[in-house]
Amino acid sequence: MPVKFPGFRSRRDALPERLWTRCPSCSEQLFNKALEKTLHVCPSCGHHFRLGSADRLAQLLDPATFEERDAGLSSQDPLGFVDQKPYPDRVAAAKLATGLPDAAVWGFGAIEGQRVAIVVMDFGFMGGSMGAVVGEKVARAAEGALAARVPLVIVSASGGARMQEGTLALMQLAKTMAALERLRAAHVPYVSVMSDPTTGGVFASYAAMGDVNLAEPNALIGFAGARVGAGTIGQELPPGFQRSEFLFHHGFLDRVVARADLRRELAALLRYLAPRPTPEAARG
Ligand SMILES: [Zn+2]
Repeated sequence: MPVKFPGFRSRRDALPERLWTRCPSCSEQLFNKALEKTLHVCPSCGHHFRLGSADRLAQLLDPATFEERDAGLSSQDPLGFVDQKPYPDRVAAAKLATGLPDAAVWGFGAIEGQRVAIVVMDFGFMGGSMGAVVGEKVARAAEGALAARVPLVIVSASGGARMQEGTLALMQLAKTMAALERLRAAHVPYVSVMSDPTTGGVFASYAAMGDVNLAEPNALIGFAGARVGAGTIGQELPPGFQRSEFLFHHGFLDRVVARADLRRELAALLRYLAPRPTPEAARG
């Protein structure tokens, strides 16, 4: 029997935290530099760590092709909302911690040479919550894709609508869906990528509405949490409920794609779906 010493920390545990990350799935200690090389996927068990928007853009886009749009959009506080602290303080703290203006960035870029409009969400900014800024960026990205006739790609990572913006946050569901509907009517493709987690109002609006819906492995995807679901139907939920693989097997997702394959898969899809030129352009 190994003897346990309460309070004892091994030399490895005592190393500065920033050098190592413990995998929450298999408990392996992973060297952060090595984790960057595996695109933040655990080499032992395949656990996909959450990615910030800058890393996501770097992984998906051709180098130096990203042109950000509407970087200056910033949240207002129309309700004067205060929970444990005022909403503007919360936003300021999130800006400071992440260096981001809000929970989504959008712009144009290229994936294997194919120009796209792309939105990437960042769970690190207030849980990737969707307020007026996120909704506006998604809507403008759809409008930008339509105007340029290039495909739209949205990578979601969100706990849902931002409660501090109340009904204005819920209005973003309708706004983003209206913009996507105009895109659909013009036959410009939209590929949705759901990462862990994609839940609540984001799942209930644009994330689930791709012409092709992809997800990373084992991502939590759904509307209400499992406890609410179980309580509502008065039954235990099946194993793996609301995970990518479960949703794929029940026909809700088109593919579950490992992060290492995501860029290549997106490029292949975009080539296949590339919007055809308008009749006027084809004639001219
Ligand atoms: Zn692991």
